[in-house]
Amino acid sequence: MLAIVSDLAKPAALFLNHLNKSIMAREYPIEKVRNIGVIAHIDAGKTTVSERILFYTGVSHKIGEVHEGDTVMDWMEQERERGITITAAATTTFWTPTSAHGDAKEKIKINLIDTPGHIDFTIEVKRSMRVLDGAVVVFDGVAGVEPQSETNWRYADDYNVPRICFINKLDRLGASFERSYQSILERLTPNAVKMQIPDGHEDKFTGVVDLLEMEFVQFEGAKGEKIVRGEIPAELKAEADKERAILVEKIVENDDEAMSQYLEGKEIAVEKLKSILRSAVIAGKIYPVFCGSALKNKGVQLVLDAVAYYLPSPLDVPPTIGKDEKGEDVIAEPSDTAPFRALAFKVATDPYVGQLTFFRVYSGMLQAGSYVLNTRTGQQERIGRIVRLHANEREEIKEIDAGGIAAAVGLKSTKTGDTLCDPDHPVTLLGIIAPEPVISLRIEPKTKADQEKMGMALRKLSDEDPTFRIRTDIETGETIISGMGELHLDVLVDRMRREFAVEANVGRPQVAYKETITQEAQAEGKYIKQSGGRGQYGHVWLKVEPMERGAGYEFVDAIKGGSIPDEFVKPTEKGVQEAMERGVVAGFPLVDMKVTLYDGSYHEVDSSEIAFKMAGSTALQEASKRAKPVLLEPIMKVEVIIPEKSMGETTGDIAGRRGQIINIVDRATLSLKVIDARVPLSSMFGYSTSLRSLTEGRGNYTMEFDHYEPVPANVAQQIVEGKK
Ligand code: GDP
Repeated sequence: MLAIVSDLAKPAALFLNHLNKSIMAREYPIEKVRNIGVIAHIDAGKTTVSERILFYTGVSHKIGEVHEGDTVMDWMEQERERGITITAAATTTFWTPTSAHGDAKEKIKINLIDTPGHIDFTIEVKRSMRVLDGAVVVFDGVAGVEPQSETNWRYADDYNVPRICFINKLDRLGASFERSYQSILERLTPNAVKMQIPDGHEDKFTGVVDLLEMEFVQFEGAKGEKIVRGEIPAELKAEADKERAILVEKIVENDDEAMSQYLEGKEIAVEKLKSILRSAVIAGKIYPVFCGSALKNKGVQLVLDAVAYYLPSPLDVPPTIGKDEKGEDVIAEPSDTAPFRALAFKVATDPYVGQLTFFRVYSGMLQAGSYVLNTRTGQQERIGRIVRLHANEREEIKEIDAGGIAAAVGLKSTKTGDTLCDPDHPVTLLGIIAPEPVISLRIEPKTKADQEKMGMALRKLSDEDPTFRIRTDIETGETIISGMGELHLDVLVDRMRREFAVEANVGRPQVAYKETITQEAQAEGKYIKQSGGRGQYGHVWLKVEPMERGAGYEFVDAIKGGSIPDEFVKPTEKGVQEAMERGVVAGFPLVDMKVTLYDGSYHEVDSSEIAFKMAGSTALQEASKRAKPVLLEPIMKVEVIIPEKSMGETTGDIAGRRGQIINIVDRATLSLKVIDARVPLSSMFGYSTSLRSLTEGRGNYTMEFDHYEPVPANVAQQIVEGKK
């Protein structure tokens, strides 16, 4: 009863929604839901695989090829041109497993979350990992594991995402299932196990042997939509028997009862094996490996079957944790009757319906028309319309339940990473931590008329993407944008032009240096003008102290005895913040410091907000100068994979770039070396060209932001001079 009494105070719509909650049945059983992503190195075939998934699941009515620029998942024009998928959108589709044996053939609902492969878009990969429950990792059957597949695999490890592997492109010249499988074992996990073997390679690749069912599967019809199961070709029988034994042994290791049956030489039912395998995959103990050719329409349906059989439903993964208002942990139960809790994981602009906020519901249900609380802003927002995106249509739905993924239309103040929850049960789910942007550039509109449009466009883009930041250089008035890499900023400027019709001139990309202080200091700031007319009077004393790397900024008001009235504290802080945007070493933003306002004075008549703002700025600059300020530079974690014989040149080159080598490991079978190094970003411009020439084109590398570090004095000098 209590709940209903408190609900009476709310708008009527909300009250009704609460009542509806108990009568509305859920649309789809939660155990039949799969929130999955397709993860891959660029060019491995993620787009093609995703499209085939949409095609076979019957939602995509025609197959679009990447080169025809007709793909369903690639929404944005430029993605088609560049041939890479940048945004993470979610698409809902349904699948009924095709397996011939009488195991569960019940339809599942798949929410396919698109993930980008390019390293400049790490945050997109990470935030999709955060909301998906399982993943299909796609490999190129010629190249096997590539550097970015390793990076993405590790992100998936960090988020404990159960995975199945798909070795694609077996039709390509030089493809090898065995070699690609070995590269997974060697570089990613010893727990990868073959579920299939292919019949032939390149243009002789005809189909796959299903090692659990011991059937030969072929894909007929114009788009491979007709699945034909038959006997294993005689020449593959011996290999299939051998590989099946390995698979069965690997599976039964996870179940005592099955293990003893196996040791007694008894046959274990396929159903039993599948169920043990399912638990092992969900626990991250086994990574089943499938194969095929998405382009030639072979194998994708069996991957969909595997999604149904082996990847978890929202019930199978550990529930998400959040913090309530007191900072205590709260579990977001994957149950429809629990309070509503969801994470906004993507803000996107849809050409037809406008701004869409994609969210994953961790617990409870949400009806269109109800209010949710955004715990970051403390504001309630009305969810007017909820839409679900299919490959080629947008479906308006009345409600969304626990474990589901959908998009809200027209939310104004919700950003990527925000928690949306039941206003009566405020809980903030652990969000997605955005890495610090490391590259910045100056941008100005081509015409005066574009000025306002540019501001609006940049704001919209930064709402979508927490790694994209905007600031204004107070001295020059220029707009500076920062992001995760050159390509990242390129894409954003491009989007601004296409989606918002803003033409802009951009400067050269520059390393996003920062500044900080290394010791405590105090200083006074005065802004006093008392000759003729109304005067100005602002006077403050500030103390600055260094904080640990990444701590940001903290302002403490320690005024006692009213030496400065309350109304002038905020303006002082504003002045401090403005001054921090332009540091005293070379004009880069000051970070990681605590600023305490502890004294000052005021004048009854002449004091004003403006005067205290000016005094705050002056005091901060002065105090920072006294506190031994230094420049900070982004240090990247760089992983370089090279042939053994290029070791000397490559490590020498890294040292010449002020890099520090942390570790070097062997990749035995391929006689490759993997160098793990930390290198300042400023010396990584043009690295791909150098690496190519050092290694005769065989070297490869990935790079991601690691941390900020003080710049050595001699280098700092050059940077400071370069600025002048
Ligand atoms: P993504 O970058 O991972 O999204 O990869 P795409 O799906 O865009 O594929 C990259 C290129 O590989 C495109 O030219 C595809 O047509 C091609 N491709 C994808 N799958 C296959 C395959 O199974 N066999 C062959 N031969 N090419 C493929």
